[in-house]
Amino acid sequence: MTKFHSDLLVIGSGLSGLGAALHAAERGLTVALVTKNSVSVSCSIEAQGGIASVIDIQTDSFSKHISDTINAGVGLNKPEIVEYFVRRGPEAIKEMELRGIRFTKNSKGGFDLGKEGGHSERRVVHAGDITGQQIISVVAQEALKHPLISIYENHTAVDLITTNKFKIGSDNRVVGCYVLTPDESVELFAANTVLLATGGCGKVYLYTSNPRVTSGDGVAIGMRAGLSAINMEMIQFHPTILHHEKATSVLISEALRGEGGILKTVDGNPVMEGVHPLKDLAPRDIVARAIDAHLKQSGDDFIYLDMTHLGADFLYKRFPNITNICKSVGIDIANDPIPVVPAAHYMCGGLKATPEGVTDIPGLFVAGEIAHTGLHGANRLASNSLLEAAVMAREVVHHIDTYLHSHDFPEKCNIPLWNDEGITDSPENIVIKQNWEEIRHLMWNYVGIVRSNSRLKRAMKRIAVIKEEITEYYWNFKITNDLIELRNLTIVAETIIRSAQKRKESRGLHHNIDFPERQAKAEDTSVSIEELLP
Ligand SMILES: Cc1cc2nc3c(=O)[nH]c(=O)nc-3n(C[C@H](O)[C@H](O)[C@H](O)COP(=O)(O)OP(=O)(O)OC[C@H]3O[C@@H](n4cnc5c(N)ncnc54)[C@H](O)[C@@H]3O)c2cc1C
Repeated sequence: MTKFHSDLLVIGSGLSGLGAALHAAERGLTVALVTKNSVSVSCSIEAQGGIASVIDIQTDSFSKHISDTINAGVGLNKPEIVEYFVRRGPEAIKEMELRGIRFTKNSKGGFDLGKEGGHSERRVVHAGDITGQQIISVVAQEALKHPLISIYENHTAVDLITTNKFKIGSDNRVVGCYVLTPDESVELFAANTVLLATGGCGKVYLYTSNPRVTSGDGVAIGMRAGLSAINMEMIQFHPTILHHEKATSVLISEALRGEGGILKTVDGNPVMEGVHPLKDLAPRDIVARAIDAHLKQSGDDFIYLDMTHLGADFLYKRFPNITNICKSVGIDIANDPIPVVPAAHYMCGGLKATPEGVTDIPGLFVAGEIAHTGLHGANRLASNSLLEAAVMAREVVHHIDTYLHSHDFPEKCNIPLWNDEGITDSPENIVIKQNWEEIRHLMWNYVGIVRSNSRLKRAMKRIAVIKEEITEYYWNFKITNDLIELRNLTIVAETIIRSAQKRKESRGLHHNIDFPERQAKAEDTSVSIEELLP
């Protein structure tokens, strides 16, 4: 049955999804928001470092922020798009403050600006080391109590419904989405506009800083609807994730290195000495590769991030969250170096869109990490992604509103209901578990920080086998959350491999030992669903 008919269906409850839902409702649009887990599970809420924005105009400028972003992105960024986001930073921060989000201030009442890798100036606005929590708690509270927004937790988007695909109209446009509900039925959410705000795809890799929900669903859903995915080989590996058996996916923020933390081998030698002039604050791709090379060569399982020279008073006050997390596993950051490893962190590529989130399918919009706009290029500058999510959440709603007001929508559109006739429960869930683990291992080993032609070829061969099994499974058995995620992970993994094979150079986050040079001209890679294995 049709559960909800809204002007806008938002998929995802990170900063981009919740932010857009609020902006839309404030314009009088009705909004249904579905989210896979609870409203508070997302990458946004995990953000520690903060949001990059030019604040101190005595020392900083838009042109410096633009040039830092393009340097980190190794020229694959689109300069006009970088400028678009950078110029909107101060306004985005102001808007958050007006909503009641409290950022950390200095003794003079100004923002206490942090510094992170690749930034030439202090420009990271933060709320201690729990910036994401502060932002999401305020935005989610507002969204939860807004009368025009209905939030459906534990609802997983399965596939978009477009008029062409379902032969319910002459013009192609989006009309809704099939959604798996907590009682394991698939329901129809009809809407004249849909916003995909599902974040990235960290779970495609064995080690990641991302929460469990981040399985690239939106990318696969958008590709199946007909959108192209751009630069998907550009996966950012964060250099410092806590290495501890009792704490997985815990990020140790770059802000620690911004305040003087030093990466050291287990023997105590500085890892970044002689690697890059910015040493521990070199761009993330360079730091992650240096650590990866050291671990592969030494056979060690981790390196250390040493903060012990900075003193307990400063560390406990500046990083209370990290202090507590480390303490919970027996590490006192003022006295013990923190064991860390690199892990998949951020998807710089994504679905092709304008900076306002407009896609090639009428009525379908994207915002946040899922979008490829041209901001990040070959490597995201730290703290530019919350900026992207905040700016897009606002801008996309202007375009959604305009689209709704400039189109006529039929009163009734005969959207077919989900058909699971003849489908039975899966007899062997082990198939899902096995393939899930296999994809994540093979992506880590063959399509990780350093790649080669033969590793990519091997990865593609394995994906072909997995994809065949999963496709058969998907059409014959009742769908579950795990099966939806696995089907999407397979498409995203294959897209990353195909994109990596298309890039015949090493640039930024993509390092292929068979093409070590950077080509003179920076060009995007693009993959469509038709190019993937049948
Ligand atoms: C540990 C960590 C620290 C970070 N620190 C910073 C930082 O300091 N500064 C910075 O700028 N960036 C940081 N980032 C990156 C930044 O948090 C993200 O890029 C950004 O928050 C993405 O926001 P989003 O709204 O696009 O997606 P997310 O916040 O990831 O939200 C995606 C939402 O979509 C939902 N979803 C996914 N699939 C489905 C589906 N099929 N159906 C329904 N719902 C679905 C998820 O449940 C989730 O609610 C960090 C990331 C991590 C993981």
